[in-house]
Amino acid sequence: MIVNLHTHTPRCRHAVGAEQEYVEAALAAKLEMLGFSDHTPYWFPGDYYSHMRMYPDQLQEYADTVRKLQKQYEGKIRLPLGLEVEYYPTLFPELLPRLQDAGIEYMLLGQHWCGDEMGEPYNGTATDSEAHLAKYCSQVMDAMQTGLFTYVAHPDILHFVGEDHIYKKHVSRLCKEAKACNIPVEINLLGVNENRQYPKRLFWEAAAEEGCDVVIGSDAHKPSHVVHPEPEKKALAIVSEFSLHLVERPQLRRI
Ligand SMILES: [Zn+2]
Ligand SMILES: [Zn+2]
Repeated sequence: MIVNLHTHTPRCRHAVGAEQEYVEAALAAKLEMLGFSDHTPYWFPGDYYSHMRMYPDQLQEYADTVRKLQKQYEGKIRLPLGLEVEYYPTLFPELLPRLQDAGIEYMLLGQHWCGDEMGEPYNGTATDSEAHLAKYCSQVMDAMQTGLFTYVAHPDILHFVGEDHIYKKHVSRLCKEAKACNIPVEINLLGVNENRQYPKRLFWEAAAEEGCDVVIGSDAHKPSHVVHPEPEKKALAIVSEFSLHLVERPQLRRI
């Protein structure tokens, strides 16, 4: 691994370790770039709030912390300031200028819920609903069409347990759009390491057929997972099995 753009911090309340420890782990493994991409805050209406993201009032401090490290480590390693962001059509237009104001440099798309999250099931919950699968794929495609996302994190998060040909039909649409938009899709090392429903083989078969660019992302929630050789080996096995086109230095899309 040369570049990892998928890194969390304790602000999301399910990651541990100081930012500097993540940076030191990246330096020790000779990475050229470590992008911080913690779970974005969202401005929800009413009193709804998700348990797995930073609060809005933490955004500035997050940005300041990463920028301080950028200065401290200048010339040693690049530390772009990003966020992992869901695309929620009615809330995103209000979110984007707030992220720009805070100086966020790039976004990964991590579509953990569909719709606007509120009242929706987590996309990692097993479902045989073709409607849910179709909605997920269409929403990711809409997000990609904004041209604002650097890549799609765990594009295979939707835990579909229905028939394979139905799954393949819809994720092929998603992969075709990723190729058309020139946006890579990520093989997620956290999913590999924890034996989650992703990486899902059928998704990567579709990605290969559509000629998608592929990146490997650590999705580190602790410093020792910034570079994680065992799951990385398994991810590389998927790359070679399906002859996927691996991009080792993904191009940052500035927001
Ligand atoms: Zn997380
Ligand atoms: Zn993540």
